[in-house]
Amino acid sequence: MHCRYCGKEMDDDAKVCRYCGRAVAESRPVRQDDDVNTCAVLSVLFAFLLPFAGIVFGAVGLHSAKKTGGNGRRLAFVGLIPSITIFVLMMTRILGIAVIAPAIKGGVSAS
Ligand SMILES: [Zn+2]
Repeated sequence: MHCRYCGKEMDDDAKVCRYCGRAVAESRPVRQDDDVNTCAVLSVLFAFLLPFAGIVFGAVGLHSAKKTGGNGRRLAFVGLIPSITIFVLMMTRILGIAVIAPAIKGGVSAS
């Protein structure tokens, strides 16, 4: 294919023209960028409200970021990391209560 700025011959899969240095990759649809960012933003929001949803949105955001070439990937991580941390903490607490509560009950009834 030919560079649309300088018209020189270039590799079909090249993203930047090596003669004029301009980015010749097809412009990404703005709509898709918004979708990626929406997922990433939702991930950040839900990280503290509903960590499981945060993980889901973060994963979707990351997946879409991969397809569109990295848009919103950092933001998805920003949502994904606290989501997973809080989710794990919550699970440990729930599991902890599930394990400790019967033990306390057993101890009380035994004494
Ligand atoms: Zn060029």
